[in-house]
Amino acid sequence: MNKHFSTTGIVIRKVDFGEADRIVTVLTEDMGKIDCIAKGARRLKSRFCGRLELFSEIQITCYQGQSLACLNEAHLIDGFPDVKETDRHRVLFYIAELTHRLIQDQQQIEGVYPLLHETINHLKEENKTDVILHTYLVKLLTLSGFLSPWNQCATCNETLNIEHPIHLGDDANVICQSCSNAAHRRIEAPLIKWVNFMQHYPLPNTLKVQVNEKDHQSVWLWLQGVLGNLLSTPMKSESFLQSVA
Ligand SMILES: [Zn+2]
Repeated sequence: MNKHFSTTGIVIRKVDFGEADRIVTVLTEDMGKIDCIAKGARRLKSRFCGRLELFSEIQITCYQGQSLACLNEAHLIDGFPDVKETDRHRVLFYIAELTHRLIQDQQQIEGVYPLLHETINHLKEENKTDVILHTYLVKLLTLSGFLSPWNQCATCNETLNIEHPIHLGDDANVICQSCSNAAHRRIEAPLIKWVNFMQHYPLPNTLKVQVNEKDHQSVWLWLQGVLGNLLSTPMKSESFLQSVA
């Protein structure tokens, strides 16, 4: 393995380490999620100053040490504007934490980097933070294999007919009437249609959809249930979201 490497990524986590160092977690374009140590990053005159902020898109050069990659250089490609204490920032923190928790170290999942990149860019300009958040979660869960396509039965793979009863399976997937039993809750057609749409259409398209408050709430409740089953401990940034979700 080449000990030196360069890549592009987005900072999704930063933690203080030792006296003056910082460990940053970067979701990269081509190497999955990596941790790297930025030596002296908390010093006033650090060469990394202002370049390793959360959600910044950076070009990095690293040296692979025994356990951690060591950051040699970081160039800022695009920073996230200072929108602290706004809905957009709360949504970003939630997205960053969830992405970090659902993706394993060095795990490269096709499509996740462009999804995060596009989501962050939309959050810079759009105010429909709730739709952006829900779409991101549905797409991330689908890309990472936690959610199967909602246009087919997760058990028999038959294409689902929205006119017939459809049920929620054990692991958040949907199943047809014949594959369901009494324990499976029936779900309503608008929710199925909306999740299906978020799975299959690009974010700019989902932003054009007018979602009524009831469907909006059902999606959020369902997503919280799915994440509650997936994660062993609650999200730290969960409380941030109460005002926007
Ligand atoms: Zn079935």
